[in-house]
Amino acid sequence: PAQDADSTRIAIVGGGLAGSLLALALARQGHGVDLYERRPDPRRQSAGAGRSINLGLSKRGMQGLRMVGLLDDVLARSVVMSGRVIHAPDGSTRYQAYGKDAGEVLHSIDRNELNHLLLDRAQQHPQVRLHFEHRLVRADKANRTLEFDTPDGSVTVQPLWVAGADGAFSAMRRELQHGERADYHQEYLEWGYKELTLAARPDGSSVIELTALHVWPRSHCLFVSHPNLDGSHTLTLFLPFEGEESFATVRTPEQVSALFAKYFPDLLPLLPGLLDQWERHPTGSLITTRTAPWRFGDWAVLLGDACHAVYPFYGQGMNSAFEDCCVLMAALADQPKDLAAAFSRYEQQRRPHTDVLAELSKANFVELRQKVQSPWFIARKRLDLALNRLWPRSWLPLYTMIAHSTMPYGEALERSHRQERLLRTALAGIAALCCAGLAYAIGVKP
Ligand code: FAD
Repeated sequence: PAQDADSTRIAIVGGGLAGSLLALALARQGHGVDLYERRPDPRRQSAGAGRSINLGLSKRGMQGLRMVGLLDDVLARSVVMSGRVIHAPDGSTRYQAYGKDAGEVLHSIDRNELNHLLLDRAQQHPQVRLHFEHRLVRADKANRTLEFDTPDGSVTVQPLWVAGADGAFSAMRRELQHGERADYHQEYLEWGYKELTLAARPDGSSVIELTALHVWPRSHCLFVSHPNLDGSHTLTLFLPFEGEESFATVRTPEQVSALFAKYFPDLLPLLPGLLDQWERHPTGSLITTRTAPWRFGDWAVLLGDACHAVYPFYGQGMNSAFEDCCVLMAALADQPKDLAAAFSRYEQQRRPHTDVLAELSKANFVELRQKVQSPWFIARKRLDLALNRLWPRSWLPLYTMIAHSTMPYGEALERSHRQERLLRTALAGIAALCCAGLAYAIGVKP
């Protein structure tokens, strides 16, 4: 029998970014919410424990935070990134703006701090109950119950309905799809990542430009850095798992130093604790998932990484998870009496677009590693921004539509293809006119 048979409350599985935002959004609409999180309360960790890992917040994520009244608090804790600084192998740097003006920027925010803030606000809401150290192990769809492992044994609950926000390896997705006609596709990147900290100077100033994302693109590896409010930066090294220069072969202090001396000589003097960090910090893996369906009748629905984990190269994982919350809340508002219809509408509105995001995120891996240095790519970016300044409503670079707008991802890609075709036609026309003019000038008769 269910221990907590309060079937008027909504259960959320996973108290990460999407789960805690959705808890707050539902509570603000008057719903009772129980949030179940596998880990102990992350806010109880002693100050300074753990590393700061940063995420780039853009328009879609900001929209989600605005929905729950937290945008200003989050922006006050973030560092503006107005563009990318590209570090070439010879140590020279080049700046690429993210957009046409100060409104088109990203915000670097500490993931833990953001999660703590969301959990704090959720906890302060009288409609929300938080349950830490509750790991979902089973969902009984027929009886509409969830079973959790807790330090005190197994707990079974019977919520009104359940949202699965338990991340890329979602137990809720597995349970929801068990025994159903369901699709699931999972793809690991052959590259992993390791996070390192680039400390600030003793006076708190940053050793590299603070208000930018920094990229060290190399065909064989890639470094990206996000700034922190205290002047430090979170560096993420992406490197193949296997092969000649890979996480498998770069292990000893000599091998680590050699890798940095070869590819990132400008970073070496800035990272005095490199070897120690290399050893202590784990190597993470990256995964893309596609799945369907995202829902089960009027009882369960998925959101965030639980239904669409993407590679982090477009910086849209959290942003799209927050956007899921907005779309789900709008679908619930449209169909307050028919949950099955609301869940179905939400999935129809989101899934085609998050599938596009998965592809864009893969493509941006190549862009960050290779294209950002190519003169053709740089010229093309400049042309895009110049056209955008001339016609701010009708010409929108793809990056602008993804990061600085809430246009659905699929529509953004479609529109960018249309613009590309237009540009090609216009350039071909200009080239033909030039040729005709030249022919006329030198007296060639048609
Ligand atoms: P998660 O944040 O993973 O939360 C899931 C929660 O569920 C966790 O707290 C977990 O403990 C809990 N859980 C898991 N299983 C269970 C269970 N069985 N029972 C109960 N609870 C459970 N996104 C951006 O938008 N911008 C960026 O710049 C960016 N950079 C990134 C860089 C890297 C290196 C990586 C790896 C990701 C990055 N992302 C970025 C992606 C972003 O981190 C994720 O998309 C986002 O965290 C997804 O949120 P979520 O709530 O869906 O999942």
